[in-house]
Amino acid sequence: MQLVPCILTEIGAVTSEQLDIIPAKIQVIRHIRKQYACRCGQCGQFTREPIPDALKRSVLGPRLSAATVYVSSRMHGSRRAAEELLQEVLGAPLALGTVTAREREMTAALSEPYRQAKAAVQRAAAVEARQAAQPVG
Ligand SMILES: [Zn+2]
Repeated sequence: MQLVPCILTEIGAVTSEQLDIIPAKIQVIRHIRKQYACRCGQCGQFTREPIPDALKRSVLGPRLSAATVYVSSRMHGSRRAAEELLQEVLGAPLALGTVTAREREMTAALSEPYRQAKAAVQRAAAVEARQAAQPVG
């Protein structure tokens, strides 16, 4: 009987996993508006390109606005807790007033769709209740 010497040989691999957070990246998106002035030296005419509509509403982009309102709603109205979480987790330096303003904006935007969805659910529930009340056969 011949003995095989003990030498370890790779036969495959097993995988282990660990979850972690890849920090969100907050970007500053600069909107550069050109300015114009007359060079005649007498009339003093001066103008600049208008502020884009999106910037008139907020200094936050749509994704950060949505995240702000989501976090604030999940904090059950604690805007300070929302502000802190957004700062610590996302690195978004938001003022408390910004959180409040985004909440107000989102509430205004969603109130009518919410009312419509709620009415549709109530109508559907009423139809279902009538159907359940009808005798079978
Ligand atoms: Zn001029």
